Amino acid sequence: MRVDMTPILTGKTDKIPFVFDYEDAAELFSEVSFDGPVHIDGVITERSGCMLLTLKASVSYTTECARCLKELHRSLTFDLSKNAAVSGSLEGDDNDDYVIVENSVLDLRDPVEELLFLELPSRDLCSDDCQGLCPKCGKDLNEGKCNCETKEIDPRLEVLKKFLQNNDDNN
Ligand SMILES: [Zn+2]
Ligand SMILES: [Zn+2]
Repeated sequence: MRVDMTPILTGKTDKIPFVFDYEDAAELFSEVSFDGPVHIDGVITERSGCMLLTLKASVSYTTECARCLKELHRSLTFDLSKNAAVSGSLEGDDNDDYVIVENSVLDLRDPVEELLFLELPSRDLCSDDCQGLCPKCGKDLNEGKCNCETKEIDPRLEVLKKFLQNNDDNN
């Protein structure tokens, strides 16, 4: 995913569009499985000596609901917009804000991997109100209630309950 920046650096153009399929994302994320490459689509523009990288990364992946373990298929698109600068042209330590162009090449790998790490959800849910599985019998509670006792009584509350029952008996 290397973009040859020569046309911008030599002033021949102020715009370099690019399209890539990033194949190696699967090695980075163990908890999801990508259905195919991450599709990258973007452009590098130059205006008054400032270079700007903008791109969209689209990805489809298969994972499971963190609560009910149902298989999920998700498609997401992320946007990235970052300044680019030629290596050695920056002052100070704030180089993290820039994508660095080295030997007239802008390598998209680092910014794209960074974007995926930031934007891919660490857990997915089939829906925000997923009921999950019963911790006792494992039934999918989205399909209906099971017959398990739903409330575990805290032992301290158990004492209180007995106390209240005894009080009732005395009345
Ligand atoms: Zn679920
Ligand atoms: Zn149950």
